Formats: sequence, C-alpha cells, structure tokens
Amino acid sequence: MRITNSDVKTIYFCPRKAQFELKERKIEKDQFNELFDIFETEAFGCTLVAVVDEVVSREPYVVKIRKSGKRVSEYHMLEAAFIGYVIESNGRSVENIIMESPFYSVFINWRPYVTKMLSLLSFFCENSEFKVVKTHLCRTCQYSGECFREVAEVEGLNFLHGVKGSSLEKLRSYGITNLKDVIKLYHIVEELFGQEKSRRIVAQAKSIIEQKPVVFKQLPEIRDGIFLDIESYTPFNFDYLFGILDNDKYIPFLAEGVSSEREAFESTVEYIKNTGKIVYHFHNYEVTRFKKLSKKYNINLPKKFFETFVDVYKLYADHVALPVPSYSLKSIARFFGFNWRTSLNGQIVVRSYAEYLATSDKHILYEILIYNEDDVRATELILRKLREFSSQKN
Ligand code: SF4
Repeated sequence: MRITNSDVKTIYFCPRKAQFELKERKIEKDQFNELFDIFETEAFGCTLVAVVDEVVSREPYVVKIRKSGKRVSEYHMLEAAFIGYVIESNGRSVENIIMESPFYSVFINWRPYVTKMLSLLSFFCENSEFKVVKTHLCRTCQYSGECFREVAEVEGLNFLHGVKGSSLEKLRSYGITNLKDVIKLYHIVEELFGQEKSRRIVAQAKSIIEQKPVVFKQLPEIRDGIFLDIESYTPFNFDYLFGILDNDKYIPFLAEGVSSEREAFESTVEYIKNTGKIVYHFHNYEVTRFKKLSKKYNINLPKKFFETFVDVYKLYADHVALPVPSYSLKSIARFFGFNWRTSLNGQIVVRSYAEYLATSDKHILYEILIYNEDDVRATELILRKLREFSSQKN
C-alpha cells in the first residue's frame, strides 16, 4: 500500500476511510516524479511517499506544504513528521518544513512527532479492519452508506441526527443500545425526550435501518423558486461569487476583485427582487452574508426581502429523517445520487481561490464556478426530493 503525506489526516481521523480510499486509488509509481521531488521509504509493510508543494532549498532541505484551513492542528504536525522522516530516511537532511495557508505560515517543529506518526502508521498498516467511528469526516464521506448499513446491525446510536452527549447517555442508561431498541422501546424514548423529539429519533432509527427517507412531520407547501449559493474568500472577508440557479439556468454574479464586491452583490439583489421568487439556500450562511453586505454597503434590505429566503437544511432537519451521517448538503445530495464534478469542498475552495488570486489562472476560476454551480444544482435536487415526499404524504 502506497501512503502519501496527504493521507495522514484521514488515517488520523478515520483509518477506515483511508483504507477505502487507498484501495480505490491507483497511484502509478512514477506519477509525481516529473513534477515534484519525491522521496519514498518502507515502513510496516507500506510504502511511504512524501510529496511536497515546493522545495525552497535542497542542501539542507526546506520544503513547503500548502493547506487551506484556518489553524494548525496535531495532524499537521504528524504530516510534517511523515515528510521529515521520509526525506531523512533517504539520507538527506531536513532543516525546515513550512506549512502555509491563506491564514497562516508556520515552521513546523516536526521531530517530536515522529514517534506518534510511526505508531499511527504501524496501527494502520498492520491492521486490515477498522471500526466505524463517527467523526467530522463522515459529513462528506462517500462511504457513509456502507458504514451506515454496518452500524445499523449492531449499534448506530451515534449516527442519530441531533442525539449526542447526555442524550446518548440517557438512552444507554435505559438499556437502549442500538437502533432496533430505539424503535422497540419507543415509550421510553418518548418519556425521556418528549413526543416531538422522540418522533424524530425513532424516524431516524427507522431510516438508518431501512436505508430510506422517513418523513416524520408534514412538510409545508414547496413552491417554485431560485437557488442561491455564495463563495467567500474568508481571509479577506470577501464574497466574490453569488451563484443563482433559475429555471435550470446557472447565473453567476462574480466580483473580479474586492472593489467589485458591491456591484456583484447589488446585481444579485436586483435579480432576486426582479424574479420575486422564493430563494432557496442551504444553511443560514447566505442570509448572514446578505445582512452583513447590506450593512457594509448601506443597502436597505427590508425584513420582507428576507421573508422569501428558505433554508432547505431546516426543511430536512425538521421534517425528514435520512440515513446519512450528517445533514450537510454533500451528504444529503449524494444520498440522492448527486455527483459533484470537482473535488473541491468548502475548505479547498478557499485555497483554490488564493491560487487564482496569485496566478490569475482562469482554469482555477472555471473550476470554482463549476463547484458553485454544482452546489446550487444539488440544492435544487434535494428540494425536488422534498416535493416528492410532500406529495406522497398528502
Ligand atoms: S462514514 Fe465516517 S466512519 Fe465511515 S468511512 Fe466515512 S468517515 Fe469513516
């Protein structure tokens, strides 16, 4: 098995996911050689491959790794230890490993983390089966369906949406340890959480066991509308793209630079006002940004304007139980068969936009536009599904 430094994060949070990914991945031995300095070494029956984004100097080595997040975490240290260890195993000396993101640039003191990194890798390389453990990676994981089927047989309380901490403990203290118990012992669940919450919890359990959506509260009327998704470059607090899907047509309002943010925002507001349609979005980010921008540019957006905004996430969370690890747009839309055309996500897109700012490479911008278009199309798909549930119910 060939493991690269960029796999360290996944191994750290969910070795099971890393195992799925590595089995599917086809890395040709010389895939990177023309582009990067590549070092390899063997450990615990695996091949460790260090791939860096930039070699700053070679004697001794100073290398740079690019990231997208806001802060440095322990897994970054382990990734740096992986790189340092692999390069030095090839007889070179590593002076510095720099990690850089749009939010930080730091020298990583990687040597103290080598022991922990090696123990993580030995656990990963020397085991063939890993348990399903709920982590934040489950939110967007493409293998969640498989994990759900597995946990549904044995446990799975962790995967009940909105049930954690003390609620989980309460269930367990009453002998409710798996999803079937939740259904069988409904009267206890109701006693513990009240009628409304218990109805949701039981619907969730059913949904996971039967692997299908379960409507637990009648849905409101779903009217036609447009779909909105904003892309922001958070280091500058800059909203550069307002993507709208209207009648199957994708309309991007793009700010070429910070100075044209106002114009892009005003054009979007104008468009929304002119259509007079409901504005569907996922989560409350769009509403929050609209309120901030209207304040920033002194543009009056009355309460009535926001009354046309409908959060599709809330429609799901309040009415439909789904067999998904989280109610993120990615999880829900994937469950209904939607495929994103790019490998971008909320974090990576920030890094991509930083690269676009640095290089003005239109291909990068094009990819971001596709990603944004897919987000609004995914929102449209999951709203369509809600409409289907709604008509089944009535
Ligand atoms: S769904 Fe969660 S537990 Fe399963 S492989 Fe993905 S990240 Fe791991």
